[in-house]
Amino acid sequence: MMTTDTSQVRERLVELIQLQVLYDRLHAVRARQGDLPQQIEDLSAKADTLQHSLKELAEQIRQIEAEVRSLHVSNDSLRDHEQKLRKKLEAVRTNQEYYDIETEIKETHLTIEKNLQDIRRLQHKAESFRQKYSEDEATLRDIQARIAERKERLEVIKQHTAEQEAHLLKQIEVLSQQLQAEDPRLFQLFERRRRSLRGGKAVVSIIPTERVEGRYACGGCYTLLPRQLHWEIMQRNKIIVCESCGRFLVDEGFYTEVAKSMS
Ligand SMILES: [Zn+2]
Repeated sequence: MMTTDTSQVRERLVELIQLQVLYDRLHAVRARQGDLPQQIEDLSAKADTLQHSLKELAEQIRQIEAEVRSLHVSNDSLRDHEQKLRKKLEAVRTNQEYYDIETEIKETHLTIEKNLQDIRRLQHKAESFRQKYSEDEATLRDIQARIAERKERLEVIKQHTAEQEAHLLKQIEVLSQQLQAEDPRLFQLFERRRRSLRGGKAVVSIIPTERVEGRYACGGCYTLLPRQLHWEIMQRNKIIVCESCGRFLVDEGFYTEVAKSMS
């Protein structure tokens, strides 16, 4: 027992519940950002990867186009060569000479055909790369739009909640100072519990348990409470903490009553 006077204890209990309600509201306000920051981070990582692969694709397309150009240049000079050979053919004197030139013309022609095949193959490849590029580009634009939309939403939430957050922090500060002045040990205990427990829940209401008819459990760790303790909690004039988790225990009606009186 931290304090002995019954009405004083009741007043401390009210203050503990009030502090808890304020912290709950603060958590709720902060939770409104939800997973937006994480979503923005994930989408940005995706956008970076896509941007990188688009750059690589563009480079591959550029290389293929250069290859196609050089094959065209090579075919142009092969055709010139072929023309010259055909002229030479008109002026040959021996069969052997005729045969040699004819063979060279055939070979030149084959090389031109082969080059044309390569050009078609490369153009086909470039076309599929260009298609992939434009698809990826559309995906990137979509991701960028989603990032912008989420950033905007997060900004609105931040602007909207900043005022509420500041207001709650002020209320918490005032009440904390008050409780600290009235009962420093109790305040320290509350603070320790609040900081160490999951969700910052230092004060919880007890809940009926399905395990045993008419029995109650700690609303934080669900440990079954002795009947005597339950009865004492219901009197609302004693500060009681859960033996298992250390949370302050109050009855649900009390908690709701105090919370309602604050709004
Ligand atoms: Zn507990």
